[in-house]
Amino acid sequence: MMREERHDDVVRMVFTTPSSRSMGFDVSTYAIRGIVIDSAFSDVGGELEQWLDASGPRGLIVTHYHEDHAGNVERMARRGLPLWIAPATLAHLTQPSRIGWYRRLCWGVQPALASPVTPFAPEGLELIPTPGHSHDHHVVWDPTTRTVFGADLFLGVKVRVSHPPHREDVRAQIASLRRVIALNPLRYFDAHRGLIPSPVAQLKKKLTWMEETVAAIDAMLVQRLDDKAIVKRVFGGEDRIGLITFGDYSRKNFVASVRATASSRTPLLAVPDSASVYRTNV
Ligand SMILES: [Zn+2]
Repeated sequence: MMREERHDDVVRMVFTTPSSRSMGFDVSTYAIRGIVIDSAFSDVGGELEQWLDASGPRGLIVTHYHEDHAGNVERMARRGLPLWIAPATLAHLTQPSRIGWYRRLCWGVQPALASPVTPFAPEGLELIPTPGHSHDHHVVWDPTTRTVFGADLFLGVKVRVSHPPHREDVRAQIASLRRVIALNPLRYFDAHRGLIPSPVAQLKKKLTWMEETVAAIDAMLVQRLDDKAIVKRVFGGEDRIGLITFGDYSRKNFVASVRATASSRTPLLAVPDSASVYRTNV
């Protein structure tokens, strides 16, 4: 099912299936000035194609490799729609790793990217590397309207669960949040929450919560507490989603990510300097 919302010059398409709704999930793709941001998940590929047939966009940007954002990239490539895909994302899409059963149930199975990709330069928009949620994560910045399409950077102020440390890096997320706050956006569209009111204030709240939480965990690591004890003290125990996903998306992983990067106090997934921001409008 697809629901369409309009926000001035931005179209939001909210995709769900009975299966994703039963698990409480939806995902949004966006379109601005003929450019689509993300391709939703494979089970809604037909609906996305219908929208594309009617709208005729110039191209599509893929923010990161996760199956609810890149689930239809093979379909898009096959229909010849020009695509902007970061090299690290492309590597995942051509050889996707196996995902947990709960992700397959929610979003469907993402086919590997096999068709040739027509490259796309999204004029007027900038792709800003924002690793943390995943190592290849980008947000889309529209300097003309000072709008951020944040993909999965925000999600909420207090996101206490994380994927395992090799796939998600809490300290890198903090650096990425700072980078996006520095843009001072007027509008911010989240891939799951939609339009975020007062985005800078919300992003700053998240940054403060994450910094305080990481500092609390760091202090407990110095005391040589184990991850289970830290989860109990900092978060009050494991989350329901941690149990449902057999720990794949859990509070324990949040602590493990902080532990994995504790020696250097720097992100595992380094945030590139501003010189490497993909500026496509210059
Ligand atoms: Zn994601």
